[in-house]
Amino acid sequence: MRVKYLTRLDQLEGLTAAERRRLGPVGDKYAFRLNEYYQKLIDWDDPNDPLRRLVVPHEQELFEWGRLDASEEASYTPVRGCQHKYSDTALLLVNEVCGAYCRYCFRKRLFMNDNDDASTDYSGGLSYIAEHEEITNVLLTGGDPLIMSSRRLGQIVSDVSAVPHVRIIRIGSKMVAFNPFRVLDDPELLQLIREHCESGTQIYIMNHFDHPRELTTEARLALQLLIKAGAQIVNQCPIIRGVNDRAQTFAALFRELSFVGCPPYYVFQGRPTAGNAPYELPIVEGYTIFTEANRLVSGLAKRARFVMSHATGKIEICGLDDRYIYMRYHRTHLPEDYGKMIIALRDEDAYWLDQLTVVSGPASAIEYAADYQPAGRGY
Ligand code: SF4
Repeated sequence: MRVKYLTRLDQLEGLTAAERRRLGPVGDKYAFRLNEYYQKLIDWDDPNDPLRRLVVPHEQELFEWGRLDASEEASYTPVRGCQHKYSDTALLLVNEVCGAYCRYCFRKRLFMNDNDDASTDYSGGLSYIAEHEEITNVLLTGGDPLIMSSRRLGQIVSDVSAVPHVRIIRIGSKMVAFNPFRVLDDPELLQLIREHCESGTQIYIMNHFDHPRELTTEARLALQLLIKAGAQIVNQCPIIRGVNDRAQTFAALFRELSFVGCPPYYVFQGRPTAGNAPYELPIVEGYTIFTEANRLVSGLAKRARFVMSHATGKIEICGLDDRYIYMRYHRTHLPEDYGKMIIALRDEDAYWLDQLTVVSGPASAIEYAADYQPAGRGY
C-alpha cells in the first residue's frame, strides 16, 4: 500500500484552523512529519490521544528546556556521521529522515537545516570501523535507515558486513510502528536480511514501539516477516509524558511485545533535549511507572532495563528508597567506570543525573552533577 507522507500542518484534517495557526510556530522550529497510515491510528476526537501527542506539535515545545545534543553525542563523533562511545559498538548515522517525527526525539537537531551530524557518505565511518577491530556491533541509525530504499540500505549493510570483525548489524527503526507497509510491501528488504543472516552476520532490528495501539495487525505481521527472514527483533522506547506514562499502558506494551516475540530491551529516561519540556518525566516518577509495569507482566515481558543515556555512559536506574536513588553504570566510555554504583539523594524533581546530588559514585558522575547549571525551566 502506498503511504503518503505529510509535512505541513494544514494537511492534517483532524486539526482545527485555530490549532493549525497556533501550532505553526512550533512546527517551524521543530520539524513536523507524519504519514497517512499513522494519521489514521489517531483518535482526533480526543485532544489528549497518546498517538496524537506523539506526532503533533505542542505549544510547550517552545519552553526553554535542555540542549539540542543532551547526551553530548558530538564529543563521541570521530568522523562525520560515525559515533564511537562504547568500545564494541559504533553508530553510523546514515540519513536524516524518519517515517514521522516523534515530538520528543532526542536527535531532532538532525531534522534542522543547519545540521551535518548525519551523512549519506558513510565512507569515512566505514574506514574508521574497519580500522578499529574492537568494534563488533554497528548500529545503523539516523533518522531511520528503513526510510531508505532497500537497494541503498543493502549497499550499506553489505559494506559494513564485509568488515571481518563486525558480527552484528543493528538497524534502529520506528518504521514498523510508523509505516509497516515498508516491510510488508518490499520483498527486497526481507531478502537482504535473509541473505546476510544466512551468511553469518546477525541483523537486529531495534524497533521503537511506544504505545500498545501501535501494534496493529499490519505491524504484527511485519514483525513476523522480519523474524521469518532471520532478523532478531527487540524494542526500545522512552517513557513519554501523555503517551505511555501509566503503568497499565506500559504493562500492556510489554505484554503485547512479548506475545509477538519482540522482547523489550531498553526503556529510556527522556533526555533533557531542547523542545522536549512537555514530554519529560522526573526520574523518580519514571522509575515508579517502570517498576509497577514490570510487576504486572510475566518474566519474558520484563526484560528491559530502565536507563539514562548520559554523556558518561548508560546509567541503569536500579532502585529507590526514601532517601536515595540507586544507579549503576551499564555501559561506559571509560572502562574503569563499568559496573560502578552511583547513589544520589532522592529528588522528586530531578530529570537527569546532572540535577542530582551524588553522594557516592565514580568521579565522572560526581563532576557532572556538581557542574550542573540550569539552562531553562526545570532543567
Ligand atoms: S523515529 Fe527515532 S530518530 Fe526518528 S523522530 Fe522518532 S525518535 Fe527521532
